[in-house]
Amino acid sequence: MKYIKGKNEFVQIKGASYKIQLVDNLYGNLGMTDTKNKVIYIEKEKDKNELEKTILHELLHANLYECGLPIWCNDENLISWLENNFLDIFDQFLKISYEFEEIK
Ligand SMILES: [Zn+2]
Repeated sequence: MKYIKGKNEFVQIKGASYKIQLVDNLYGNLGMTDTKNKVIYIEKEKDKNELEKTILHELLHANLYECGLPIWCNDENLISWLENNFLDIFDQFLKISYEFEEIK
């Protein structure tokens, strides 16, 4: 097992400290979130896009859990929808925020 080097080994999620741990093999999964022990496992992936999508996916699991929504946290359909749409929605947010800045 390898740890992410540098400051990003841990991420704070709603007051909980989650360790991000890179692993060689998750036996068919690209990522896994252990909400009990506060560890997010990420399978080493050569494709950067796939790695980022996996990190986002696992962060969504952890965030829903830490927000007190354990049932939604385990809803893979919801997590996949959020994973696939979060960045588009965030881009929309940034565009609108930027336009508000232009008005000021
Ligand atoms: Zn999942």
